[in-house]
Amino acid sequence: RQEYISNNTATSRDLHEKAQEVIPGGVTANIKHIDPHPIVMEKGNGSKLYDVDQNEYIDYLLSYGALIAGHGHPAVFEAAMEQMREAGTTIFGTPHRLETVMAEKLVSLYPSIEMVRFTNSGLEATMLAIRAAMAYAGKSKIAKFEGHYHGGYDQVLMSVNPDHGAAGDPTSPNAVPESLGIPDYYQENTVVLPFNDLDATEKILRQRADEVSAIILEPVQGGFIPADQTFIEGVRDLTEELGILLIFDEVKTGFRLGLGGAQESYGVTPDLTALGKVLGGGFPVGAIGGKKEIMDILSPAGSRDILTAGADQRAKHDTLFHSGTYNGHPTVLASGLATIELLEKDRTLEELFDKTNRLRNELEELYQAYNIPMQTVGLGSIFNIILADDSIKNYRDLKKADTSLRKELDYELLNLGIYTKPLNRYSLSTAHSEEDLKRTVEAHKQAIENVMK
Ligand code: PMP
Repeated sequence: RQEYISNNTATSRDLHEKAQEVIPGGVTANIKHIDPHPIVMEKGNGSKLYDVDQNEYIDYLLSYGALIAGHGHPAVFEAAMEQMREAGTTIFGTPHRLETVMAEKLVSLYPSIEMVRFTNSGLEATMLAIRAAMAYAGKSKIAKFEGHYHGGYDQVLMSVNPDHGAAGDPTSPNAVPESLGIPDYYQENTVVLPFNDLDATEKILRQRADEVSAIILEPVQGGFIPADQTFIEGVRDLTEELGILLIFDEVKTGFRLGLGGAQESYGVTPDLTALGKVLGGGFPVGAIGGKKEIMDILSPAGSRDILTAGADQRAKHDTLFHSGTYNGHPTVLASGLATIELLEKDRTLEELFDKTNRLRNELEELYQAYNIPMQTVGLGSIFNIILADDSIKNYRDLKKADTSLRKELDYELLNLGIYTKPLNRYSLSTAHSEEDLKRTVEAHKQAIENVMK
């Protein structure tokens, strides 16, 4: 089936071969690889992507959910360009007005956020949130949930997609590094918890409470498996009781489940929040926010002393290091603010959710008509197609799905002009039209017919 994409994508294949000579694997992120070769894109417009062979695709990847307004939304484009024109530069390297404007916006929208710091990616945001939590709570470990992704750095690149054999007991998962080159230290200092299993989570946490500074979690795993309401409330109560900080990684759910993210829709307020993706309107961005009391550790008051003090004094110093050449980049913030403004317009998000739910229902009906066990799993404007009848609550449940049929269908769909990476989720944008949805359902019908031939 994988030859399918080669028929229409000869230029992509040739470019990939060239890229491989100078870029390991020909990709700038491992996740961009598709067998037998990635499709090389050249243009985007609204809900569409166009590859180097002029094939058109309805894009459900949307750069991993970042482009909630679709490709090249005029208001977002114009905001970024106007910022550059007005400033006469791309970046100042000093404070500027938009930083406070965006920070105030996040404070007004996110229940947990009283103060904000910007980063350049979601990865940096979760890393900074963890550092702040470790500094504040002063214990040696963090805890994360199996199957949850927070960026590809050592501390959290643990048990994201562990091999079944290595994953261990579902109620007490092993910490399994997801990469070569991760020192044992991180395996020993990252506690892995089972998502949506409150009893097992409680048991582990009560045993480890003295060691764990913070729990980081995706309120909606992978952007599509929602935490049960009782689970997420239970985790909040437990962390408060045990003196453990709670970090919501809302890099995916932020602005997608609602303007105030998952914390608003669940009515559960974490201590710290990490944001990214939609926040930059398609440019690289991240942010952390949280209680003033915790965020204050980031204040550079006295940082001059840190730089000049001896090592023993440095160790005692109560300031937390955070820096970055591009933090709070003006062009990025202008684009992000324009995106948020679009989402704030009356019923924009509700309409996006309605559209997503319609597509989910139609796809479910279609697969049912072909007697293929299938369910869509998701919330808001993101869902995944799971070929299984069993209820899907966490990483272990995902293993029950038929991924080989799903993969075959995904390759057919690529050929039929529906773009998402094989096995990936579907993210929708405000740019997706009724016509796009109709074409998508028809393409699925054709893909099923082709696979069944
Ligand atoms: N956290 C979550 C929940 C994510 O989905 C991602 C990106 N997929 C990240 C963190 C990392 O963000 P970035 O790719 O911007 O570093």
